[in-house]
Amino acid sequence: MATCSTSPIEARPRIQPQQPPEGSLVEVADGIFWARMPLPFALDHVNVWLLRDGEGFTLIDTGMADARTRGLWERIFAEQLGGLPITRLICTHHHPDHMGLSSWFHARFGVRMTTTIGEWTHGRLGWLESGEDFLAHASDHFVRFGLRDEPLRLAIAEGNNYRKYIDPIPLDFVRIGDGDRLSIGGREWRVLTFSGHSPEHVCLWCPEADVLIAGDQVLPRISPTIGVWSNEPEANPLGGFFASLDRLMTLSDAALVLPSHGLPFTGLRQRCEALKAHHDERLKHTLDSCGDPSSGADVMERLFPRTLSGHDLLFAVAETLSHLNYLIAEGCIEYSACEKQNIKYKAK
Ligand SMILES: [Zn+2]
Repeated sequence: MATCSTSPIEARPRIQPQQPPEGSLVEVADGIFWARMPLPFALDHVNVWLLRDGEGFTLIDTGMADARTRGLWERIFAEQLGGLPITRLICTHHHPDHMGLSSWFHARFGVRMTTTIGEWTHGRLGWLESGEDFLAHASDHFVRFGLRDEPLRLAIAEGNNYRKYIDPIPLDFVRIGDGDRLSIGGREWRVLTFSGHSPEHVCLWCPEADVLIAGDQVLPRISPTIGVWSNEPEANPLGGFFASLDRLMTLSDAALVLPSHGLPFTGLRQRCEALKAHHDERLKHTLDSCGDPSSGADVMERLFPRTLSGHDLLFAVAETLSHLNYLIAEGCIEYSACEKQNIKYKAK
């Protein structure tokens, strides 16, 4: 969902579209409409896309589950869709600003959410995790990382952050997977799936329209969060993210990219290169921070040298671990201690 690092080169918007005012739509390509929904973070909005599709609209992503977003949707339904319904909902991934209202749309229009098995499963599990075992496990994770005292207290107090911003994730869904082809509005859209930001993130690519609906996989101004979370502490999502950028760079460079945050842009290849350069820089900084055996928290303090709120702390821990785990996978650093209460890293 939220993103926390800024990459060095911003992608240029191809067009300077007028951003849609709250509760209205802007057509960014033939039959493709853009709406923005509010977020209660530094990142203050999420883009959602409505594609004309027969006697209705296919919607890509929902916004977060709060009263303001529901109210904006009701205005759009009443004033912007010419009386036509939402006939299909595709969610790019399970984060709250993308999947948060999926059960509300199901109740409102009878549309069963379409997404990948990886995203539905993670969303459903994230919704269900509320027990004390989850909190105890998360606490152990932060302790092993090296958090102590106030930062540890702040991180634990966040609890299951995911649950705060979503309605219940639906009990059923329609599965799509990499390589599938969907007919939307008479055009073929190809399903591409990627890891890195989330386990099986959906991008939709329409060669005929030369449009990529990118979700959070590629953003124009910031890097999507590439994080290691307590449920998979040895994961290497950054390796998956680099692989996704290599694949995205093989698509049309003239494509209009529709990201979930920021403005539509072109120059996909340049943007992927900039994101790689950003993470290469962060990796170098991470490696330099492991000169002496260091805990994850020691490294995090060097990568994020500022006071962090509980929410920001969760993302800083996750981002630091993704860079440490990548360096371990590449053989650049190793564990110098690996005990239940204490993991330390050192450069090889
Ligand atoms: Zn996300």
